Amino acid sequence: MRSRPWAPAFPTLFGAPPSTVATAPGRVNLLGEHTDYNLGWVLPTAIPQRTQVELRLHSPEQRRVRVSSSAAPLDDPQVSEYRLGHETPTHRWLDYVQGVTQILQREGVALPGLDLRITSDVPLGSGLSSSAALLVALFRALKQALALSLSDVAIARLCQRVENDFVGAPVGILDPMACGLCQPGQALFLDTRDLSYQTVPLPSAVELVVIHSGIVHSHGRDANHTTDEPVADYRVRRGECEQAAALLGCTSLRQLQEDRTADARIAALPAPLAARVRHVRSENDRVLQAVALLQKNTLSDEDLHALAGLFAASHRSQSEDYQVSLPAIDVLVALSGSDPGIVPGAARLTGGGFGGSIVALARSGHGFAAAARIAAAYQNATGHPATILVPQAAFDPKTGEQP
Ligand code: ADP
Ligand code: MG
Repeated sequence: MRSRPWAPAFPTLFGAPPSTVATAPGRVNLLGEHTDYNLGWVLPTAIPQRTQVELRLHSPEQRRVRVSSSAAPLDDPQVSEYRLGHETPTHRWLDYVQGVTQILQREGVALPGLDLRITSDVPLGSGLSSSAALLVALFRALKQALALSLSDVAIARLCQRVENDFVGAPVGILDPMACGLCQPGQALFLDTRDLSYQTVPLPSAVELVVIHSGIVHSHGRDANHTTDEPVADYRVRRGECEQAAALLGCTSLRQLQEDRTADARIAALPAPLAARVRHVRSENDRVLQAVALLQKNTLSDEDLHALAGLFAASHRSQSEDYQVSLPAIDVLVALSGSDPGIVPGAARLTGGGFGGSIVALARSGHGFAAAARIAAAYQNATGHPATILVPQAAFDPKTGEQP
């Protein structure tokens, strides 16, 4: 959606300064795609881009919520309004805010009216979780302003309920856990079955490259979306996993992870279910293998190549078995994996798929140059505009130039 290039300051919008400011980062998932709603493992990290929520509370009797977002479509009013207790889905961005105030009231929190200003440099619908960054930042702002007792995990669970129940996006727990708990430079190794987690350092020998393919997706029912991609596909994949689990007599595909005797029964599933299960199981294995590598103090060249191999296999699996890639994304991944600055093959689609971004591992110090080459070649090959999101261009104060 086309949004405003700038946002008026909080006092300009609402006549007084904010009392609370909170932020949350976007996230990039390194491995573990479409495993969260199958109760498997994931491995995200934070990106530098963040969403910020500024907030001012009204008196308790004032029931009006006023919200302004720099990412709102141009034809939206500068400030949108609704009344607490009258939250109604609109299938637009405001649902993310309405869902938060509705769920908190249902949890027994006495909310006063609010003024909210949202700004963000997390790209929307790009596989980097702008929706969870917004939700986590908003819960954090409300937690701070109202002294609510909410842990990061409790906030993540509330975010998922807002997306599932109010927005209508059947997303898993990965995104809000990642936006709530990830730190740059470290990966979050999360078991989505019991939400146990640990951080693992990212090796200093590599730096992350994240490039947006220029193709936007939506997992919600957001009427603002201008994408051509079918919104339903994420739901279709979820449904296929549930169907496969039911046919195999288990409540989630995670139950099959340790059961290698299930191979023959999985292979006998009707198409395309066998391939879907193959992706989920192999992707879970890849997360565990990657974590074992990252937990070594120093990664040898052989280890880095093994990590790259996991990225490459993950992309193949997403493209062939899970079928969530697109021809243009496959081109972007192939160009990335063969760039001299990238560890050979270390590139994959990240996020829910059907558009969005790719993540690659560059040799340290080579990330920006590699990303620039890849973006230019991709644009040439496909005509889609690529955007380099990570690494962010460093500004050289001496020359005033970017690398
Ligand atoms: P992703 O989370 O991967 O970016 P989603 O489709 O899950 O993609 O969420 C994108 C939607 O979230 C947007 O279309 C918009 O409705 C909402 N959203 C995200 N960030 C903002 C923001 N800063 N301001 C307003 N709405 C936002
Ligand atoms: Mg999202």
